[in-house]
Amino acid sequence: GNKFGEVKLAPPDPILGMSVAFRNDPSPDKVDMGVGAYRTNEAKPLIFQAVREAERRILDDPTINKEYLPIEGLDSFNRLARDLILGSDCPATAEGRVVTLQTLSGTGSLRIGAECCKAFLNPPCAYVSRPTWGNHNTIFEKAGMQVKSYAYWKESTRGLDLEGMLADLAEAPAGSVVILHACAHNPTGVDPSPAQWDQIADFLATKDVTLYFDSAYQGFATGDLDNDAYAIRSFIRRGFQCFVSQSFAKNTGLYGERIGALHIVTANRETSEKVLSQAKIIVRASYSNPPKHGALIVSRILSDPALKESWINELKDVSKRIIDMRHKLVEELTALAVPGDWSHVITQIGMFSFTGLTPAQCENMINKWHCYMLKNGRISMTGINTSNVAYVARAIKDSVE
Ligand code: PMP
Repeated sequence: GNKFGEVKLAPPDPILGMSVAFRNDPSPDKVDMGVGAYRTNEAKPLIFQAVREAERRILDDPTINKEYLPIEGLDSFNRLARDLILGSDCPATAEGRVVTLQTLSGTGSLRIGAECCKAFLNPPCAYVSRPTWGNHNTIFEKAGMQVKSYAYWKESTRGLDLEGMLADLAEAPAGSVVILHACAHNPTGVDPSPAQWDQIADFLATKDVTLYFDSAYQGFATGDLDNDAYAIRSFIRRGFQCFVSQSFAKNTGLYGERIGALHIVTANRETSEKVLSQAKIIVRASYSNPPKHGALIVSRILSDPALKESWINELKDVSKRIIDMRHKLVEELTALAVPGDWSHVITQIGMFSFTGLTPAQCENMINKWHCYMLKNGRISMTGINTSNVAYVARAIKDSVE
């Protein structure tokens, strides 16, 4: 008999499926604005110089072997990663109430964090922004939670719907977990200002909810690692206990090395010890212990002042190229007199721009112009460079007219 005959064909992942379609397209004009990975102005993947140098040193270090890491990962990495995101002066760290585990990049962190959240707190539901990175829904569902959404994007202003967000969160049942993008919101590129974050914090302080920060773009949003951690740090200073999922994929270019961390800020040291002991059981039953190479690289970079400086400088260059392309694209759209206001392309932050193109216009971009992008109108700015920006503008003009 056909043992697996009842299995239904799943739709391809909308983001990763787009990369396959791009690769298979023979057109010399094709532009990849689908995938969320950095590309140089020559449309090539980037390996940071600090990463290369750290790898050389690791290879030459006779004390390094390929033994297993502990369940919670590499200790030096965990401490350095924690201080990078929470700040080296974080009061919760000083009080010994931050639990840290090395994870399989941001996604692995979210999955282990969601499992911990379900096991420790059993929230009635998980709230994600509307829209959000699609995998948030799947991860929190697979961890056994009902997923609901709160307003975030306001089409009329192509900006943040703060009133709608707070109104939706006012309805959240007690104990709900609220997922917040720490910076460079995916897919909209719209972040609350510091003053708006403070307003959100004032409101959430009155609610019985658990906060869950997802940080996939620290350093990518503004080019400044501390700026991009503002929300997380200020919530923790106010006394919020929370989860933080930290990815190093984008800000170190270590996408395929799967390096990230999960931090859980609890009430006190004693609770943290218990939480860590339980989180380790979840990890042990998932993949036992995390991979080593990425942790060694990040740990070398963050502990060596010269390597760290090189990394930070290159990260600034990378975020600057993206910001330059935002300006260039708007210049080209203006020169072509493309109808509509495109200023949001400049004001949006991080890797993406939420263009406002309709699904039909996106189809035209892809099918006629070979400009690959998500059907929700999201383009990755890193796919745009000085050689194709004028072409992309022409494609947008043709699609909206
Ligand atoms: N969260 C968000 C919002 C993201 O955009 C991403 C990357 N696309 C991730 C988490 C996780 O990515 P990774 O698993 O590669 O670290």
